[in-house]
Amino acid sequence: MGEFGLINRIKAKNVTRRAETIASIGDDAAILNPIGKQVLTSTDMLVEGIHFDLSYTPLQHLGYKAVAVNVSDIAAMNAFPVQITVSIAISNRFSLEAVDMLYEGIFAACQAYNIDLVGGDTTSSNSGLIISVTVLGLADAKQIAHRSGAKPGDAICVTGDLGGAYLGLQVLLREKATYLANPDLQPDLSQYDYLLERQLKPEGRTDFIHELAEFGVVPSSMIDISDGLASELLHICTASGVGASIFERQLPIHDTTMLVAEEFNLSATTCALNGGEDYELLFTVPLADLEKIRHLPAVTPIGLIREKQDGAFFVTEMNEAIALTAQGWVHF
Ligand code: ADP
Ligand code: MG
Repeated sequence: MGEFGLINRIKAKNVTRRAETIASIGDDAAILNPIGKQVLTSTDMLVEGIHFDLSYTPLQHLGYKAVAVNVSDIAAMNAFPVQITVSIAISNRFSLEAVDMLYEGIFAACQAYNIDLVGGDTTSSNSGLIISVTVLGLADAKQIAHRSGAKPGDAICVTGDLGGAYLGLQVLLREKATYLANPDLQPDLSQYDYLLERQLKPEGRTDFIHELAEFGVVPSSMIDISDGLASELLHICTASGVGASIFERQLPIHDTTMLVAEEFNLSATTCALNGGEDYELLFTVPLADLEKIRHLPAVTPIGLIREKQDGAFFVTEMNEAIALTAQGWVHF
């Protein structure tokens, strides 16, 4: 079909929702009007074989996730996403239907997050698939939350629950190995639905940014959890020049995560601390602000910001303090 045919096909299915989008796909550049706001932008690139494996990742989910992880970066600044551009490099092993499925996921995410696809680039690659999404977000200057604003005495909170996406990946990797050994086996994965969704279809927590605005709270610092709680908390500590203590007994861990961690002989706590890709928000607030939002189901307080010289540590259920280390999430 060729590059222009493909772009026209994408354009024909594209919907513009936002007043801030003046002109979208079709000219040399999109035209946007931020209407007096601060503009935030962030980019994430996903490479086949490094960030995703198409043997167990449906293309619709991949498209959705590529958008969601970018939305998550804007949410982490306490801002709202408004537009994205999507650039793809595809090899000839991908059919037109495959590209359609990818864009089905991208369009579904645009609808879910109320954002516009306003452009991108299309090119061929020698082998795999590469998707790069750039997101634009808007915020009032005084709303923006940086990594650097945490103060001793602030509460440390997370949204949602942790460790599920990592265990979802372990389930997928195990099923892939089983399948390769015996392609006739049809696994029943229904008991893992929650974890598979956490891995394959994560959400950027824009919903929570709306709630913060509703209750008039701006976090003193915030970051999204893409590489694991421990690593992200250390980023906040470094950027803010503070220490921290978090408590094992307060970590939000889903029942399914608990059960499946046991099945894999893993510690659910380790999954919550070091597992990647939950895309929940880690944030800090002064105690007075915590009182305004702690009733929200999304919010779990997990610890306190301390003075820098106290260090950053994790307190186990046995009351042992362990220094936090950034296990991170290394993709090679
Ligand atoms: P140029 O040669 O000026 O870079 P292109 O032919 O690459 O123009 O793109 C034409 C239009 O289509 C532009 O508006 C561009 O942003 C948009 N576009 C190209 N590829 C994609 C894509 N994969 N998804 C969405 N929009 C795209
Ligand atoms: Mg181009």
